[in-house]
Amino acid sequence: TPGIRPLIAGNWKMNGTGAALVELTAMTAGDFAACEALICVPATLLTRAKGALEGSAVQLGGQDCHAQASGAHTGDVSAEMLADAGASHVIVGHSERRTDHGETDAIVAAKAEAAWRAGLTAVICIGETKDEREGGETLAVLSRQIAGSVPKAAKAAGTVIAYEPVWAIGTGLTPTVGDVAEAHAHIRAELTALLGAEAGSMRILYGGSVKPSNAAELLSVAHVDGALVGGASLKAADFLGIVAGCP
Ligand code: PEP
Repeated sequence: TPGIRPLIAGNWKMNGTGAALVELTAMTAGDFAACEALICVPATLLTRAKGALEGSAVQLGGQDCHAQASGAHTGDVSAEMLADAGASHVIVGHSERRTDHGETDAIVAAKAEAAWRAGLTAVICIGETKDEREGGETLAVLSRQIAGSVPKAAKAAGTVIAYEPVWAIGTGLTPTVGDVAEAHAHIRAELTALLGAEAGSMRILYGGSVKPSNAAELLSVAHVDGALVGGASLKAADFLGIVAGCP
């Protein structure tokens, strides 16, 4: 989108111990003239990752946060804790969280508000399942998820929307360029209806089996303002290959 600097965001999921930090170090050598970069590591790696990324353009994020700032929630991590550990962003509502942990749109919206409370940018994920796609419900699902997961207070500076068709995540399958264009145009229109002018400068990322060989094509689609990358963000060479696909 004209005027929006693309964001290439990596999501390491439940992958990586200290041995993986060499990949972060290698990423710092990349050329980030054309885009912003972000890597969302497991919470256990945040502090060490911060050290590895010191002085580089690559930003650091968490993969989920609790809606509360602190309290009796064993095993959970708050947005304030992520910020304290060096994160500037946090993913909320990833489809794996929605599926594995039963997160609803309302929970995701509360987590986005928690991110803002802690000064983090919320990367809010939406996307249809295979059944919903085949049933012709994609745009309706996206409308419902936006209405439920994106708080009306959302500002472009603190919010990124990630469109991730669930059936494209980790499968090697991607929608056609036409389908991506249709979904992203619809998301922009729904955000505009909800948020007004603020929606015009809000990043909408595509996610789902992005790799160096398809990045340039996907990133050239209208209203695609970057990518959320799972598997191909684990290796610096792949991640930087996707960064190189930024228009
Ligand atoms: C993701 O988990 O956000 C994702 C897009 O995964 P992958 O790139 O591996 O499909």
